[in-house]
Amino acid sequence: MQYDVIIIGAGSMGMAAGYYLSKSGKKTLLLDSFNSPHNKGSHHGETRIIRYAYGEGEEYVPFVLRAQELWNELERDTGKRLFVQTGVLNVGNQASNFMQNIISSAEKYSLPLDIMDSVEVHNRWSGITLPNDFIGCFEPTSGVLKCEESIKAFQELAELHGATILTNSRVREISIHGEKVSVKTEDQAFHSDALVISAGAWSGNLLSMLDLDIPLTPVRKTFAWFDTDEENYNQDCFPAFAFETQQGLYYGFPSIDGVGLKVGRHDGGIQTNPDEIMKGFGDIAEDEGDLVQFLDQFIPATGELKYGKTCMYTLTPDEKFVIDLHPKYPNVAIAAGFSGHGFKFSSAVGQALSNLIISGSNDIDISQFSITRFNNLKNI
Ligand SMILES: Cc1cc2nc3c(=O)[nH]c(=O)nc-3n(C[C@H](O)[C@H](O)[C@H](O)COP(=O)(O)OP(=O)(O)OC[C@H]3O[C@@H](n4cnc5c(N)ncnc54)[C@H](O)[C@@H]3O)c2cc1C
Repeated sequence: MQYDVIIIGAGSMGMAAGYYLSKSGKKTLLLDSFNSPHNKGSHHGETRIIRYAYGEGEEYVPFVLRAQELWNELERDTGKRLFVQTGVLNVGNQASNFMQNIISSAEKYSLPLDIMDSVEVHNRWSGITLPNDFIGCFEPTSGVLKCEESIKAFQELAELHGATILTNSRVREISIHGEKVSVKTEDQAFHSDALVISAGAWSGNLLSMLDLDIPLTPVRKTFAWFDTDEENYNQDCFPAFAFETQQGLYYGFPSIDGVGLKVGRHDGGIQTNPDEIMKGFGDIAEDEGDLVQFLDQFIPATGELKYGKTCMYTLTPDEKFVIDLHPKYPNVAIAAGFSGHGFKFSSAVGQALSNLIISGSNDIDISQFSITRFNNLKNI
């Protein structure tokens, strides 16, 4: 079968790209090893934080503001509620880069941000206790995205615009001859003029078929839900949060629709092979204890563990994304290495991938995500 564009990986980034490409009139095929949304990659667990004043650097802000505009459009076009405006509370030592980046992002882009000392944070959310040298930066306009629901929304619109989505179709081979792309699954071959690779934790293997050896490291991550007093920790009165502590960077969510307080740890994790069965939550002794020690210190009134899950990050050395055209094949766009903070951007990444395929460039500057920043690329 001949298509304009084939997308390998219909997850967070690929499904969004499928929508924007099919909406632009491209005959688009999406292939996925599973049936997205699913619980085998990086996009499950109900919720993802979206924040605009960005601790990782103010250079992300224009891209995340575009992403929020597109999330709003997606809600309007599907009639689904995908964004919950809980606000996000960032906490840490005032002098840290993370907190300073948040403050400078807000100043530069005129984002609303309430900067509070530790006592003011406790007075506002009595469930939170901070050391004296910590501050809180509360961003009231940001919040939480429903991740699986968002992927389903992009899927619905992509199909409406004529995209074909094939599930349980793992791509085994890719070949490129000039402007022609061929892709093979176990039992079928497909052809197109252009290709998008957005295969999450599996991207390294596929990119090596196209002579690209990008440093991408899949890592096992854990997160869990805890019982809470619903009156004080529900989505209407408690924010989503990111705490940079001496032990590590922890994040979490209020109890949304009564599911309990969800907590995870952003840094750390064990390198994993996405094709091997990963140890489940609790199979490693520290899984629960690490989250409990964080809660005991900072959000002490939370109750017992309800249940936990595991998921994968795909890390790059600088934890910046890869969103670029292949250096040798201008008809191949790549989105990989989202390093545990990519979901909030996925609407804007999908649009950028579509723009790269159609015109070779994006209207918002994405040069910080270029492939050529890695110096160990071979054969290019
Ligand atoms: C626990 C956890 C918490 C997170 N919290 C946040 C957060 O609060 N905010 C935030 O912004 N981000 C967060 N993230 C990060 C975010 O979820 C990821 O960056 C994002 O989901 C990555 O999207 P992706 O499209 O690269 O991968 P995925 O969504 O996993 O999609 C990749 C797809 O490619 C398919 N695939 C792979 N190989 C092949 C092949 N050979 N053939 C066909 N299909 C293939 C897979 O089946 C999969 O569906 C979190 C991630 C985790 C794990």
